[in-house]
Amino acid sequence: MKTIDIIVPCYNEEEVLPLFVKETNAVISTIPEYRFRYIFVNDGSKDKTLQVLKTLASRFLNIKYISFSRNFGKEAAMYAGLKNSTADYVIVMDADLQHPPKMFPQMIQGVEEGNDCCALYRSKQKGESKLRRLVSKVFFSFQNNISDVKMPDGAVDYRIMSRKMVDSIMELSEVQRFSKGLFCWVGFKTKWVEYENVERTVGTTKWSMWGLFKYALDGITSFSVAPLRFVAVMGFVISILAFIYIIITLIQTLFFGIDQPGYVTTLCAVLFLGGIIELSVGILGEYIGRIYIETKKRPIYIASETNLEDDTDMFDF
Ligand code: UDP
Ligand code: MG
Repeated sequence: MKTIDIIVPCYNEEEVLPLFVKETNAVISTIPEYRFRYIFVNDGSKDKTLQVLKTLASRFLNIKYISFSRNFGKEAAMYAGLKNSTADYVIVMDADLQHPPKMFPQMIQGVEEGNDCCALYRSKQKGESKLRRLVSKVFFSFQNNISDVKMPDGAVDYRIMSRKMVDSIMELSEVQRFSKGLFCWVGFKTKWVEYENVERTVGTTKWSMWGLFKYALDGITSFSVAPLRFVAVMGFVISILAFIYIIITLIQTLFFGIDQPGYVTTLCAVLFLGGIIELSVGILGEYIGRIYIETKKRPIYIASETNLEDDTDMFDF
């Protein structure tokens, strides 16, 4: 029988977890051809998530958990889950039921058709502000245009992957992970399936606008050096313009004796160039910062507790 690991990153999800397991189990029981196992990753929750996971694990033998020593972020949690997965297929999904488990049969069919991955993207962004919608749209089109990784607008971290694909992802050892991009970067045949977005019913979103902005910036800088190139081209164009301006000024003064009101042009040039230089330094700094963090080669997560090694047949209910 083929096995499937379900990886669920959890950060302060005590309220929703029992419901999540109930609903997911209901779906799983309709797919008896596969053996399922949960790997919950408690990402340093401040509430009783770990206790809830322990209680659930004592009730269901196929519930496993890894608990982090602190909050390392969703990317690290997904990495930990993937790293500890052993099944033929691996599903990654959120704990808040915004990724409906009822999509499982369709996803499994997607990979059984001969794809290595079946990934989902949202059709309707219910319960999202117009501003967030717009930011997401701009991000996806920018990302698709400047880098090698292409993904549909609304792509989420809800997917099923083959063992082969998961192993390839695990070979990418970067510390600052942007999974949406990594999943696409490794290639393989991916089927995209649309699903209707569900509003979070319990708990609150863990993303602030600033958090999302940093996430988008991470995505762009992890997969493309286009901003660096843009800065270089901009520098070149400005130098040419400045050169032409100098020539024109010289000709006007030397040959036609026209007076140049000095302070206006100086002020404009200084302000304009000052802005450009600041921007360039900022962009350079962004990349240097990433190099700095990568060179430290710190572990992506630190686990403090797990029940993964506990028993022999881990796929039994
Ligand atoms: N999450 C996590 N660590 C974090 C933040 C979030 O493991 O630091 C988990 C969270 O528990 C949930 C998933 O990542 O299962 C998605 O989080 P959320 O629902 O807050 O994001 P949204 O759906 O608003 O994008
Ligand atoms: Mg959510």
